[in-house]
Amino acid sequence: MTGATAVLHRPGTVGEAVRMLAEVGDVELLAGGTDLVPALRAGLRRPRALVALRRVLELRARGVAPDRLTIGAGVTYAELADWEPAPGLAAAARAVGSAQIRNTGTVGGALGSANPRGDLLTFLTAVDAEVLTRSARAGSRAVPLVGFLATGRRRGELVTAVRVPVTRGPQVFLKIGGRQAAYPALLNCALVVDGAAGRIRCAIGGVTTGRLRPGDAEDFAAGEIDWSAPLPSGAGVAQRFGELVALAAQEAPEQLPAGPRDPADYRWHAAGVLASRALARALAAASGDSDSGARGGADGDGTRGTGTA
Ligand SMILES: Cc1cc2nc3c(=O)[nH]c(=O)nc-3n(C[C@H](O)[C@H](O)[C@H](O)COP(=O)(O)OP(=O)(O)OC[C@H]3O[C@@H](n4cnc5c(N)ncnc54)[C@H](O)[C@@H]3O)c2cc1C
Repeated sequence: MTGATAVLHRPGTVGEAVRMLAEVGDVELLAGGTDLVPALRAGLRRPRALVALRRVLELRARGVAPDRLTIGAGVTYAELADWEPAPGLAAAARAVGSAQIRNTGTVGGALGSANPRGDLLTFLTAVDAEVLTRSARAGSRAVPLVGFLATGRRRGELVTAVRVPVTRGPQVFLKIGGRQAAYPALLNCALVVDGAAGRIRCAIGGVTTGRLRPGDAEDFAAGEIDWSAPLPSGAGVAQRFGELVALAAQEAPEQLPAGPRDPADYRWHAAGVLASRALARALAAASGDSDSGARGGADGDGTRGTGTA
């Protein structure tokens, strides 16, 4: 699979895995293998060794504290799909690939691959997640996800977990893509209402090489809401929010190359439509409008995803 010289290591603990990363040097971490195995088969990567993480049970842990959730790097999409403490993360996990991909693909692998259209990373960007890493040289560190994605994983570094703040309010995840198992999605959008902080947080994947955080649109929507009263269902706010997101998409640096299915102007427009819809669903969920589709399900117009209150 990896050429005659590749050696397979199977550590049982994070400490062993980190030591192997430091000692072996030219090594790939193997989690679920959904990205790595095709790359090895195609000869795109030829590491001297593989460090398989499946036996490292520490990486499979999930923790719930009053203010934050910790999700081990070895947790699979399937394990997140019904996880009640993180409804938006669960919705993003349910939107991933086929059942086989959800059963094997992991959080650590999503961070290791850092695909600009990866579903989980869009949600993690919206909530300003932190990435926890360990290496023999630097020990343990916690870095903001945005910084981690900008610089990439350091040599010899293992992602051990991600940390997500607990927010009070609806969370929505929407995706435009082809049939369920097709990859990648064209665009995705995560939106979180953070009632305690009086903030709307939104991230769009599929427009830029990183994730788009439309700050002006977030500030506009937060400013339109009276946070001391029940949230409005707000169709007008959602429409303007979408227009501002489309503008931010258009003006964002480091645009992904346009493809035949997704010319740039389509992506900017679609980003605005997804964001507008996500905010409308979140506000409707908060105001208890059960006819709005705010509690999720598939749309008939090429978008799919869920909103959760
Ligand atoms: C048919 C198909 C459909 C797909 N559909 C979707 C989809 O709809 N949405 C979506 O978002 N993704 C999709 N994917 C992509 C894929 O499932 C994810 O990127 C997955 O999360 C990768 O996780 P893994 O455990 O399989 O990683 P692996 O393939 O094992 O590893 C991927 C990379 O991450 C590194 N890595 C693994 N674990 C760690 C760690 N703990 N610390 C640091 N680096 C690490 C590896 O060295 C490697 O470079 C699809 C893939 C396929 C093949």
